Order: sequence, then structure tokens, then C-alpha cells
Amino acid sequence: PLVYLNGEMTALSEAKIPVLDRGFIFGDGVYEVIPIYGRRMFRAKQHMARLFRSLDAIAIPNPHELDAWMRLIAQVVDAHPAEDQMVYLQVTRGVAKRGHAFPKEVKPTVFIMTNPLVLPSAEVRERGIACVSMDDKRWLHCEIKSVSLLGNVLAAQYAAESGATETIQFRDGFLTEGSSSNVWIAKNGVLAGPPKDNLILEGIRYGLIEELCAQCGIELQARRIAREEVFAADEVMLTSATKEIVPVSSLDGKPIGNGAPGPIYRTLHEAYQAAKAAA
Ligand code: PLP
Repeated sequence: PLVYLNGEMTALSEAKIPVLDRGFIFGDGVYEVIPIYGRRMFRAKQHMARLFRSLDAIAIPNPHELDAWMRLIAQVVDAHPAEDQMVYLQVTRGVAKRGHAFPKEVKPTVFIMTNPLVLPSAEVRERGIACVSMDDKRWLHCEIKSVSLLGNVLAAQYAAESGATETIQFRDGFLTEGSSSNVWIAKNGVLAGPPKDNLILEGIRYGLIEELCAQCGIELQARRIAREEVFAADEVMLTSATKEIVPVSSLDGKPIGNGAPGPIYRTLHEAYQAAKAAA
């Protein structure tokens, strides 16, 4: 499999960036993770729109038009043998003498790679995953898909050390999101997710869940969700590009609902698979 770096397709082991790249020095860049099913991008338009918003938010000039981006991504996908893949793409501000403020006349670094998409196993979907909770200690621009991921890294490491799969974060006692996923709760047949504000990354699956709920006749509320509500929910579930939608069976060792995947999860998972097949 080949990767794309600044205009060239090369082997991953040959792809090198200068040490003064601001992605390396400052975490000054943004990224996307895009699922590929049957060699085709899923929700391409939405992922590219979010990339453009992220670039805009930190004033990195967009190095390519949409068409050119799509061609570059297709080049990397076509060079990989797997039918289902996850594309990772990153844009940093570029290479410049070290100094915090934006350098002048710097060219963004563009990197695209792909890997096989490994979805949650049937067993995980039948049993659900264990999660732990943690105070959200990240900055206040979580809506930007920034490569500065230290807060998310520490949250994910906490889950790993706890023998859990994901960390669910709370800020001032209210649900924000996972270390790399959006979080949903179901109570009495109604699904709720936190508001789409600066405290969470609006997953591309956030919009998909809105559509699937409308399709399936499930009421969906976007609102502040208190910590106690999560523990008292009938169902909790996570969404992300690589997890699709997975049920949460326990939080901090306490079972969610009856500890097994519930009907809203099952309905949405089925609708998700249908949306993939129809795309
Ligand atoms: N929130 C965070 C912090 C993430 O890293 C991710 C992506 O993995 C998501 C939410 C879900 O976003 P998406 O549905 O676009 O994968």
C-alpha cells in the first residue's frame, strides 16, 4: 500500500517530513478519518466539508479544490487491496523556523494513508463494550478536528489501563463525548445526544444518526445531558467512523440498563447497515 505525501505516492516507510513541520513542533494541523466501503467513500461530502471547516477555523489555506481532494484520496484507496478501508488524511500548516505565530509563505503539508477498516466484531455488538468516565480536560475548541489530541490520548489511555474500550468524558457534570467517538443515551424510547457546540467534535455520524432517527421514527433530542442521566439511561451507545455504532454495556463497572444491547441500538445499527448498502 502506498501513501500520498505532498504530491507524491510513496511507500509508508519512505514518507518523511522535516522535523520543523509545525504538525510535529506544535500539533498545528487538522485531520479526517473517512470510512471506505466496497472501495467507495462513505459520506464523502460531509467529511470534506468538515475538513474545510477545520482548515478554516485555524486559517490554514485549503491546498486543494474538492475535486482534486477526491482524486488524491481515490488514488490512495485504489492502491490498497482491501475492499473496506479507513482513510486518514492530515494537513499541517507546513515547515518553518520555529515560532508560535503563523509563519509567512508557508506551504501546507498534506498526507493521506489508508488501512483496512476493522469494524467491531459480532461479539462486541452482541455484548456491548465496557466504558469508564473521566472529567473532560480538553481545550474549548473540540469542534475543530485538530491533530493536537493530547487530551483525547490521555482519555484513551485511561480506558486502556482500566481494561475498558472507551472513556466517556464529562465537563462540569455534563456529557461531552468519548476519546474518539460521540455518545448517545436512550431513555423511554427517546434518544439524546449533547448539543453540537464547541465542546464536542460533531461526528459525521452525528448527522447520520439524525437522519436514521427521522427514518425510523425515533425522537432525537440535542441537549445538555447530566452525568446521572447517563448512568440511569436504558441504553448508551457510541458512534464513530471506525466503530459505526456500538452499544455500551457498562460505565465505571456499573451496568447500563440491563447490561445488554437494547432495541434502539438494534434499530439504528440495522438502519446504519442499510444506509451503507444504499450509498
Ligand atoms: N468525537 C471525537 C473526539 C472523535 O475523535 C471522533 C472521531 O473518531 C468522533 C467524535 C466521531 O466522529 P465521526 O463520526 O466523524 O467519526
